[in-house]
Amino acid sequence: MKKIYLDNNATTPIASEVFEAMSPFLKEEFYNPSSSYKFADIPAKTIAHSRDIVCRFLGNVSPKEVLFTSGATESNNAAIFGAIKANPSRRHIITTTIEHPAVLEVCKEAKRMGLEVTFLPVDSNGEISTRAFVQALRPKETLLVSIMHANNETGVIYPVETFARLTKETDAEILFHSDATQSIGKLPINLNENFINVDMLSMSAHKVHGPKGTGVLFIRKGSCWRPYLIGGHQEQGRRAGTENVAGITGLGRALELVWEHQAGPTLGKIRRLRDKLENALIEKVPFIKINGSNENRLPNTLNISCHFIEGEGILYQLDTHGISASSGSACTSGSLEPSHVLRAMNVPFTAIHGSVRFSLGRYNSEEDINYVIKVFPEIISNLRKISPYWNQEKNCPRDEQLIATKL
Ligand code: PMP
Repeated sequence: MKKIYLDNNATTPIASEVFEAMSPFLKEEFYNPSSSYKFADIPAKTIAHSRDIVCRFLGNVSPKEVLFTSGATESNNAAIFGAIKANPSRRHIITTTIEHPAVLEVCKEAKRMGLEVTFLPVDSNGEISTRAFVQALRPKETLLVSIMHANNETGVIYPVETFARLTKETDAEILFHSDATQSIGKLPINLNENFINVDMLSMSAHKVHGPKGTGVLFIRKGSCWRPYLIGGHQEQGRRAGTENVAGITGLGRALELVWEHQAGPTLGKIRRLRDKLENALIEKVPFIKINGSNENRLPNTLNISCHFIEGEGILYQLDTHGISASSGSACTSGSLEPSHVLRAMNVPFTAIHGSVRFSLGRYNSEEDINYVIKVFPEIISNLRKISPYWNQEKNCPRDEQLIATKL
């Protein structure tokens, strides 16, 4: 059976170079990097080497500004809870309605703890109004703004630097955090150039062909922040717990490969294949809608709503053809609730349940895309045959009005 992986926003296949770099640290070089004997030097050195790579990757930031974590979920928790702890006199947070649960649920928890949280809405393209953002900022009261760089479900890109600059112009003491988990390796991020006003940034290795369970939290020098995980003295006393040496090594190697691929044609190829898929499906499948602003979208992501059918049915059929895709974020699948991101974008009820996300990656080929273009229209047509909203005889939606509105 074919095996076509189009769920790279959920996770990416580990690169063989990454696996090779990691493997000594899972075997013979098992020592605790904090131990004093000389054998522990090798794990300690690989951590320092990976930290240097992260520093260069983020725009020559200082090694003291980089904390290794267990992934973007921990980085987001640490950024938000660490900011709350360090700024008890400020009680207001600004975030958006389309964040990943690793930010959204943490902000809801902050609300339960008695803080005030503004959840900024988005329009039907998934975009945030700059005016509404500025109005939400409260000098001397707002402690933190957390806005993601690119959305995992739709790929919509947010003007983080503009929001960060406006934040600092309003009150330089408000911390600005961005979850860049989906944009790392796809968009330029330089914390000393285009992201100069961003104080904290989260990322994760497994979205860039690195291992799961490893991430980074960048914290700019001088930020008012307190440690989240407390215990041992690791990471200069700012993140306790024996380091995931193999994972950290893998993250460093994965970022080196991102450089190599960014310099080459990889991103261009991914965009071309995504556009080919998108254009072909628009042409071949009636009553579909692309979710997410066209201009400001990650080059690898395609989120489509197919009116009058269930996304789970589409995914099941794709799966039987060996195609892995997703109906929303993998972190919220398992619930029958429609995606909170699409709900925030006011996707019409006839379409919100029929959403599929294709997310391409480094290893996808033209043949993969040709195969999806071949089978997808047939899958949709078959599912519509059994949809209560579909008129079988006329092969069109049951409700004429829905046709008139040109969904
Ligand atoms: N933020 C975003 C935008 C994500 O896409 C993900 C992964 N789905 C996370 C955070 C969580 O990352 P991790 O799996 O490394 O905890």
